Amino acid sequence: MVRFRKDLRPTLGAFAMSSGDSMFTVPRRGLLSCTSVPSTVELAGLAKYPFLQEASAFIRAEHVTLEELLSEPAYARARAIGRARVVEALEKGPDAKRVAIAPADQLSQLLAYPVARILVSALEDTYLTRRFALREAIAAESLLEEDSDEVILHIAAQLPMDLRRENGAFRIHFSDFLRFTSTMRDTPWKLINQPVERGYVRLRREKALRVMRNAIQRHIEQGLPLPVNEEILTVFKGDLREIRGVLEAKKATFKAEDIGKVSITRFPPCMYNLLAQIQNHENVPHMGRFAIVAFLHHIGLGNEEIYRVFGDVPDFAADVTKYQIEHITGTSSPTEYTPPECSTMKSYGICPGPDRICLTIKHPLSYYRIKGRDRRPRGESASTAT
Ligand code: SF4
Repeated sequence: MVRFRKDLRPTLGAFAMSSGDSMFTVPRRGLLSCTSVPSTVELAGLAKYPFLQEASAFIRAEHVTLEELLSEPAYARARAIGRARVVEALEKGPDAKRVAIAPADQLSQLLAYPVARILVSALEDTYLTRRFALREAIAAESLLEEDSDEVILHIAAQLPMDLRRENGAFRIHFSDFLRFTSTMRDTPWKLINQPVERGYVRLRREKALRVMRNAIQRHIEQGLPLPVNEEILTVFKGDLREIRGVLEAKKATFKAEDIGKVSITRFPPCMYNLLAQIQNHENVPHMGRFAIVAFLHHIGLGNEEIYRVFGDVPDFAADVTKYQIEHITGTSSPTEYTPPECSTMKSYGICPGPDRICLTIKHPLSYYRIKGRDRRPRGESASTAT
């Protein structure tokens, strides 16, 4: 069995909590006895909402160590559920309804959360982190639909979010509404279309829960990935290999998600790579963003379609992204920029190396035009042609 260093013992708390963890009522002791539940939220509640502050407090109070969680047969089910949650986050739509009746099942559900966070941290992949946080948030939203308003308010306070109950509905401070709906661009979610009174937006229950979903996702995402050491990597070697395989298969299907009317198979390797990096939520350098926006514009995408390519842009970046798109495409500037030439792309290190078509051209747009005419051998794609 893999032995853990002593300094690993206290680190389970870090994996168990989603963020700050100082305000809660200290739970009573006794792992599965009926007196084991924290005095503010019962084990059943912690199993449903394992990102709550009380959840990590519960685990700490029960003295479940990281070593035990990762190696004891008693926690095998928690490990299996944790791994399944990460895989499901990649493979499936968010339809999970997690209901555990027996205390042992509830404990497994609760402990599965730090296990899943360990796995996500070990893989250090932005896309996986987002998918995991999203799926957990949707599962929570689904459970909250059937929970009481008190539970909703309790969770909202921890996100933190100024959400209050009012006449059978809810109201949220407009600043929190803006903060947590910034990635929702549909008309019904624009602030101008909301009833606002004295600084608060009035929301029906289901709309309040939808806003909470975004906040929960962000709450879970914060702080991930956490540092993971060699011992953990060794214990989860097989699981990590499996999840990495699913992750890579998922990424291979990105292709032209949300790309609209243009053909991804005609993209030069540079633009294909930039697009994949953006859809994988990786950091793309400024020149890369400039190049892909100008390229997409010149092959026929509108500003809104280009914006959608950038996907779930964090709120702090949403306005900047819109501004950049409008500026580059000449909507808000006197210049309609063209993508850089190959020589410039090379000097900025964003040319991944020429394929056989690249050798005949000097500009990425030429590649797209030629590829449209070119009848390539079967099976060769824009990214694999050499
Ligand atoms: S040679 Fe030009 S078109 Fe080909 S990958 Fe490099 S920058 Fe893109």
